[in-house]
Amino acid sequence: MIITIDGPAGAGKSTVCRLLAKALGYVYLDTGAMYRAIAWALKEKGLTCAEDPECAACLPTLPLRFFIAEGALTITCNGRFLDDELREPEITREASRISQSAAVRSFLTEWQRRLASDGRVVAEGRDMGTVVFPHAPVKVFLTADLATRTQRRQAQYREKGISVDYAELEAQIRERDAADAERALAPLRPAPDALLLDTSGMDISGVMERLLRFVREKDRP
Ligand code: C5P
Repeated sequence: MIITIDGPAGAGKSTVCRLLAKALGYVYLDTGAMYRAIAWALKEKGLTCAEDPECAACLPTLPLRFFIAEGALTITCNGRFLDDELREPEITREASRISQSAAVRSFLTEWQRRLASDGRVVAEGRDMGTVVFPHAPVKVFLTADLATRTQRRQAQYREKGISVDYAELEAQIRERDAADAERALAPLRPAPDALLLDTSGMDISGVMERLLRFVREKDRP
């Protein structure tokens, strides 16, 4: 069983996926972190243009490792665990930019399918239900209005002690969503058979209740 959860930035995907995977005893696969890790590793090498043939050729040689540990995707680069550094604003921008590259997408799609080959996975991203796991039995497209998503992101930054300007954050989210939705390859959009869930005005327990009900309905023989 693979559960896909796609949607724009700040829709609450990460929180929901982590909780859902825990509730079901599934693996949590955060594919956005993989795009971020590629952006980070390329930057370390001084390569920023994913369209550059040199860059495409070096993807398999990057010292990145993707593996599952304690029920979630874990990423190392040269043995160093990558986490907070992947959330920096510059890496967020770069990840969105390099995600438009065909070479990067096919490299990561292959990895994502390999990591999910044992099943029982909650896969979070932009193209999980449409491209990577089109036969997944449970697909969800999670969204929320722009103001809600900006407020949630701002609260996440605040928790980490980072203060960000609301208007600037809103503009960044709008810009990233437009780039993700308008790109030619694997654009952000709901799969035709996805449950569309607008979480504006919903709290996390309401969202979880709805999702667990949906999973149970789909799981019925
Ligand atoms: O989900 P997250 O915000 O960490 O993703 C960072 C970026 O990676 C997104 O803005 C998007 O451009 C890209 N991405 C993607 N396909 C995925 C997951 C993420 O293109 N499946």
